[in-house]
Amino acid sequence: MSNLLKEQYMSAGITEEVYDFCDRIADGLKERFEKIDEVAQINQIKVLCAMQKERVSAGCFESSTGYGYDDLGRETLEAVYADVFHAESALVRPQLTCGTHALTTALSAILRPGDELLTPVGKPYDTLEGVIGIKGDDNPPGSLKEFGISYRQVDLLEDGSFDFDAIKEAINDKTKLVTIQRSKGYATRPTLSVKRIGELISFIKSIKPEVICMVDNCYGEFVETIEPTDVGADMCVGSLIKNPGGGLAPIGGYIVGKKELIDLCAYRLTAPGLGKEVGATLGVNRAFFQGFFLAPTVTAGALKGAIFAANVYEKLGYKVVPDSTESRHDIIQAVTLGSPEAVIAFCKGIQAGSPVDSHVAPEPYAMPGYHSDVIMAAGAFIQGSSIELSADGPIEPPFAAYFQGGLTWYHARFGITMSLQYMKNEGLISQL
Ligand SMILES: *Cc1c(COP(=O)(O)O)cnc(C)c1O
Repeated sequence: MSNLLKEQYMSAGITEEVYDFCDRIADGLKERFEKIDEVAQINQIKVLCAMQKERVSAGCFESSTGYGYDDLGRETLEAVYADVFHAESALVRPQLTCGTHALTTALSAILRPGDELLTPVGKPYDTLEGVIGIKGDDNPPGSLKEFGISYRQVDLLEDGSFDFDAIKEAINDKTKLVTIQRSKGYATRPTLSVKRIGELISFIKSIKPEVICMVDNCYGEFVETIEPTDVGADMCVGSLIKNPGGGLAPIGGYIVGKKELIDLCAYRLTAPGLGKEVGATLGVNRAFFQGFFLAPTVTAGALKGAIFAANVYEKLGYKVVPDSTESRHDIIQAVTLGSPEAVIAFCKGIQAGSPVDSHVAPEPYAMPGYHSDVIMAAGAFIQGSSIELSADGPIEPPFAAYFQGGLTWYHARFGITMSLQYMKNEGLISQL
């Protein structure tokens, strides 16, 4: 059996040495993977029961055009999302073009001139810097800053814990909205568990109960059995070309939370007074439903891939965040490879292991919204989808590659094995 698998790997260009090394690692992860499967099962039933409760039917897969009034599928899907997140309401739309857009919509729906935005967990995701207006001379037009919305940031302490004293001090009369990013993004800080997010929200609300707590939930959905809205978050925001789209959603974002806030978001997304009533779905309903249905399993596969990668590269002496044994709260794996050559070889390997565009080689280039040149490996069915096996690496110290996704664990394993093969072929790894 395992010999057949080995032969298959070798016929795909993996050497025996690389295969054996990776196979031993995969073998050692079986118990851990059982726990991931259990979380996936719990989430699967959660999604299934929500679909049953909201009476998902064939009519929900019909499409609307034009204004999109009375779109049964859209309304039912939003009810399903609200149920799964135990929230009052949801906005799940193809018109939310990406995660950054969903977050921007939420921020600009709630904040008014004179209000202040606080992040108590350090700098937010790169693409939000221009949204907030913290890029100095590089701020694009239309940032929150331009609209008179101020910003405060409290960093995590050295050991990754919350700086409660500084957070208390930062909350003031103007503080209207607190944004908490669950995933580490491009930072090498730890990702926050839902439990820790809950503790942070409780602390913030004990100082100023009326403050709105929003969680950037990107990459975190279905990794645990609870979501931030289960622990006091007023709003939770994410992208459908990450976990909750299950690899099938071709576009989209979601915002779930308190009804009053979701209505404000809908007024910002479409127009004041129109809100959730408009927004044609143009044929995406079935993919949104089916993707959400598959999302718990797909997320589990991606998570297994991330853990496998952590174990492979840690064993070879690289710094990995999260490390090989720690608990997981998102699907991103950072591997500090230490040189531009290694980041490039790693990404080329991931690309070569993809079902789409495996014949092209990625190169570093300047990307809007990012500080330095970035190399991106993405042989995906949906452009830029990062629930599919993908990797990116900013070409700057400490030369870390960020790896995520994999619609199946088997593909994730194959792609990571290929990344190692490429590094080996380039002479960047001596001994396995
Ligand atoms: C991906 C991501 C975003 C932005 O989403 P895009 O779809 O790339 O715009 C924001 N925050 C975090 C933590 C993310 O991982």
